[in-house]
Amino acid sequence: MSEKNNLKKYTRKRKFAQTPEPESATTAQTTNQTPIFVIQKHNASHLHWDLRLEIDGVLKSWAIPKEPPTTENIKRLAIQVEDHPLSYANFEGVIPEGNYGAGTVEIWDKGEISFEKIKDREILLEFFGNKLIGKYALINTNGKNWLFFKRKQ
Ligand code: MN
Repeated sequence: MSEKNNLKKYTRKRKFAQTPEPESATTAQTTNQTPIFVIQKHNASHLHWDLRLEIDGVLKSWAIPKEPPTTENIKRLAIQVEDHPLSYANFEGVIPEGNYGAGTVEIWDKGEISFEKIKDREILLEFFGNKLIGKYALINTNGKNWLFFKRKQ
């Protein structure tokens, strides 16, 4: 995951007087609650899906240019982007023209996750969503580029 958890980039990219996105710039306290994921379908200049995983009090985030895989044997490029605040997991709405990520955001899937392994370049986890169900992997290939796929169950 290569970067420390922080929301400075998230805050720097946005004008909160203009965008309805949550302003929270603090990481959450660690809790004993089960971590969650969300995937937001983001119809910006290029349609993509934003995968976000709750890790260490923030939502670690990846942009996936094609629909996330719900079956095995499909590998998707996932490009790591800036950490988002946990409150972003509930966000749906329209980011106005002229703002970073302008376009519509809708929740495509959401639920709990369970991690098997979290390393700098490898995340193994299980999803308990409506569309994403079962064991998946995120494998770093180069820089910000990761591969996201469903594993053998
Ligand atoms: Mn996005």
